[in-house]
Amino acid sequence: MSNVVFKVSETIMQEIKENYNYYHVDQQPAGSVFVAKKPGCTITGYRSGKVMFQGKNAEEEADKWKSRAQLEPEKQTKAPAHKWSPPQHIAEQSIIGSDEVGTGDYFGPMTVAAAFVRKDQYPLLTELGVKDSKHLSDEKISSIAKDIISIIPHSVLVLRNKKYNDLQQRGMNQGKMKALLHNRALLNTIEKLSNKPYNGILIDQFVDPSVYFRYISSEKKQLTSVYFATQAEQLHLSVAAASIISRYAFLRELDQLSEQFGIKFPKGAGKQVDEVAAVLIEKEGETALEHCAKLHFTNTIKAKQLVELRSNR
Ligand code: MN
Repeated sequence: MSNVVFKVSETIMQEIKENYNYYHVDQQPAGSVFVAKKPGCTITGYRSGKVMFQGKNAEEEADKWKSRAQLEPEKQTKAPAHKWSPPQHIAEQSIIGSDEVGTGDYFGPMTVAAAFVRKDQYPLLTELGVKDSKHLSDEKISSIAKDIISIIPHSVLVLRNKKYNDLQQRGMNQGKMKALLHNRALLNTIEKLSNKPYNGILIDQFVDPSVYFRYISSEKKQLTSVYFATQAEQLHLSVAAASIISRYAFLRELDQLSEQFGIKFPKGAGKQVDEVAAVLIEKEGETALEHCAKLHFTNTIKAKQLVELRSNR
């Protein structure tokens, strides 16, 4: 049985609580805000701000929220150092970094990018505005991305919703999907370097490294000489650039989906998302969700409930 715990802000706690409304149970341990029992996973929120996921689907369930926890660096407890931690002066090296986007968003794909940044490109990239993408608006992300994609070798992979849902229904968790895409994006980028030298590879850590290596163990080519760090976009601009490029790809895909369905799809997995999903079901039928949303999120159940409520009115 696995167990995942992390800290979130009050707002996110409320969002998580509401997300599992359907599964709330009455018995609550001391210090808890809510307990939700979903098949395969029990979620407990505590007044301390900690959320605990327990059960065989704990990792997968926690994955939906992990990125939200990272949105609040002041509340995040740093992952302990391990043998894959990057060296102290990594910012003075030429590194291939990787990061993913869209894992906590109900609508839209999951995107993963890897990017190579030479140490001598730091001033130029800084000048172009490359930094931690969490501090950048969508407009800024797009304009920076357009500037840098022609300058730095990179690879961006888009896992669209239909494929994502198929993999998920066949039992693959989100962590494994991420791992496979990181490995592949990094390999693609190395290939683009065509033997130009680099000092190392840095992955923005989303899972314990040992679990990462298990996830990619069935791949023909596995990159195992890699560093892992949480908030790695602050450690090297290659990860910040990868983050910007993957977010740009995500935003573009989300725009295309919005255009295709004639509905503006919001980011995230909150209440507004349930509303929009309900509108989509009413307009196009339930099957439309397969092509634009991550079906296993609780938003699916809530949207269906909304549709039913309205049809009974
Ligand atoms: Mn990340």
